[in-house]
Amino acid sequence: MQNQQNKNTANTRTQNQNVSQRNRRTGQTRSTQTNRRPTTDTKYAPAYTRTTHPHQNRNIKRKKQRRGAVSGLAVCLVVMIFVSLSLLIVRSIDWDYIFSDKTRRPFENPENTVYGPYLTDAEREGYLTQYATVNAADVHRGSCILVNFDVPYIFEEEEDVYSVYKNKSKSYKVTSGSIFLRMETIQAMNSMMDAFYAETENRNVMVNSGFRNAKQQQQVYDSKAELNGADYAEQYVQKPGYSEHHTGYAMDLAVYDEGDLEVEGDEAMWTFNGKDEYFWIDQNCSQYGFILRYSASKEDVTRISYESWHYRYVGIGNALAIQNMGLALEEYINFIRDYSYDGTRYYITANNGDIYCLYYVKSNGSDGQKIPIPKTARSYQISGNNIDGFIVSALVGNEQG
Ligand SMILES: [Zn+2]
Repeated sequence: MQNQQNKNTANTRTQNQNVSQRNRRTGQTRSTQTNRRPTTDTKYAPAYTRTTHPHQNRNIKRKKQRRGAVSGLAVCLVVMIFVSLSLLIVRSIDWDYIFSDKTRRPFENPENTVYGPYLTDAEREGYLTQYATVNAADVHRGSCILVNFDVPYIFEEEEDVYSVYKNKSKSYKVTSGSIFLRMETIQAMNSMMDAFYAETENRNVMVNSGFRNAKQQQQVYDSKAELNGADYAEQYVQKPGYSEHHTGYAMDLAVYDEGDLEVEGDEAMWTFNGKDEYFWIDQNCSQYGFILRYSASKEDVTRISYESWHYRYVGIGNALAIQNMGLALEEYINFIRDYSYDGTRYYITANNGDIYCLYYVKSNGSDGQKIPIPKTARSYQISGNNIDGFIVSALVGNEQG
């Protein structure tokens, strides 16, 4: 049986050989005949081949296609999930940190916490701080100096004061052409009174007194003593050297009364009492850098009777802090000593959203002392306290951005 099969195979081989030989001879193409095996010859059919009905075949094909599509979709889904997960992970990694110098720390802006480049301590210091230079005598200069019974004003050779009449806006008046104030004070007064006029259409506020030198202060004292007695003068007027009017940052207000214009000499001037529509000035003065210096509630601190007319310019940041906490200037000078550049700073926001940063720097008594200022400051003001150090008020931002 086996022999016969072998024989058969041998037979076929010789037959095939014959065919190819024939082909070569006739020049026919090989493909058509040589490799073709007759399908009817079961000897050559593979053992696993099953003959099936054509319909059955089509169903298997469809099933296979469906299975292929489902598994393709699943693979796609898995890939998509994998990709999005990896994206999430990659994005959550702080690459800046991984590739950064590990001695660096993220930059935190103390004003509004901004995370920026990674900085070394030295860079951080340079990034955050700028320095202003002051001299020992500057302790006695600036808009926030304290002048009272105990702390005299140190006069300058020539005081830097300007005519109010020549520099004022049209929203208020001045009693004479010989009233002088520092330019900062006049500009702040212009802003405040322009706002007051916009609110009330009243321009009858007058500046009745401004800068006084020692001689002028003596004259004021003498005339008050002559008019109202020595007790009155003692109560309301400081001795030369101890008056805020020496600073050029203090002024007395009055109210102009037009009177009957038909009657000559009927114009009059009234005491500024801070009442009715003038109460606006009391309420809003700090937004422009002024404080009501001798308030009724602080007579025991200032040792000066309530003066509804005496306003003092101290700069916006300081004025806001003073009004916010209801302090006298004497109390504020002590209060701010607890705030420092490196420690806690005092922050206060104006009605317009401006954010002020306030702190104290002790004087080291030498010229060329460096005062640290936040580099983020849009503007700043350094004032001596007239005793032992400096008060810094820096405009560091605005709530609206
Ligand atoms: Zn005064």
